[in-house]
Amino acid sequence: MKKVLMLSVALMFVFTLFIASAPPVQAKTTFVTIGTGGITGVYYPTGGAIAKIVNKKKKEYGIRCTVESTGGSVFNVNAIMAGDLEFGVVQSDRQYQAINGEKEWKEKGPQKDLRAVFSIHPESVTLIATVESGIKTIGDLKNKRVNIGNPGSGQLGNSLDALTAAKIDKEKDIKAEQVKAAEAPGLLQDGRIDAFFYTVGHPNGAIKEATAGATKVRFIPITGSGIDDLIKKKPYYAKSVIPAKLYPGAESEKGEDGKAKDVETFGVKATFVTSAKVPENVVYAIAKEVFENFDDFKKLHPAYQVLTKEGMLDGLSAPIHPGAMKYYKEAGLKK
Ligand code: GLU
Repeated sequence: MKKVLMLSVALMFVFTLFIASAPPVQAKTTFVTIGTGGITGVYYPTGGAIAKIVNKKKKEYGIRCTVESTGGSVFNVNAIMAGDLEFGVVQSDRQYQAINGEKEWKEKGPQKDLRAVFSIHPESVTLIATVESGIKTIGDLKNKRVNIGNPGSGQLGNSLDALTAAKIDKEKDIKAEQVKAAEAPGLLQDGRIDAFFYTVGHPNGAIKEATAGATKVRFIPITGSGIDDLIKKKPYYAKSVIPAKLYPGAESEKGEDGKAKDVETFGVKATFVTSAKVPENVVYAIAKEVFENFDDFKKLHPAYQVLTKEGMLDGLSAPIHPGAMKYYKEAGLKK
């Protein structure tokens, strides 16, 4: 009996020692959510890539990142400003418009608390049509059923800019649909729309779906003097190309070498944003982990092939969040 008692006292002693020497439990976990886009786009896997890298250090930072599929850029800015999301992926043109109170933010005014963290992959304003529709240029969209993008998406602003530049009136000249990008490929394949716009990085699941079905489709270049003027006028637009080889299922124009020609259009950049209200240590941790694991990050999506650390600090129009700035200074990326 005495022995049993001594043994249990000893065990309790060991147990107490064990508890005392265990690493301190994090006071609390900070949960942060990243707003993205449709699950067949590039934003959704981008949110996943960032979350994966940050969550690896969950013990160190006490931060747990989750990802949400959303309606896109404009939705994300508004949800971040409302405090419903901490981070979001947002087109560079939408970041510019939000911080300056333009387009969807004209009435609400400048979104002063919007903060930039870094920029990510390039996105092209992509126009794709069924071969049967006979559409070959943006001008041919007249009288056609065209998905111009859901409210809340980034592409809605780009398709409207492109249509205006091509002198096409959204109300009078086309039958405009406003469905989410994830639904557009199915509608195109089923012949329920003739074309759709999607501002997105390449390659992506939505365009693969649109080009791999029984209905033959082709990319439509977004070019012409109106488009050239638009690019000249708007600081956030630049020329861009969609590599034809990424989508072998699409019908394409052949160049002199017999190979499918790349598709000329214009584009923006995907950027990662937050609010001034999100604590410095949280933004610092995310910027640091993405940049310190840059090579691993780049491998997480083929659209990241062109990324450079310096390039990831371009295309930002909102002030950089102080937490991110702290890391960029430490890393010598900013003075
Ligand atoms: N650029 C699109 C938007 O802002 C989203 C693209 C994507 O999900 O990859 O709505």
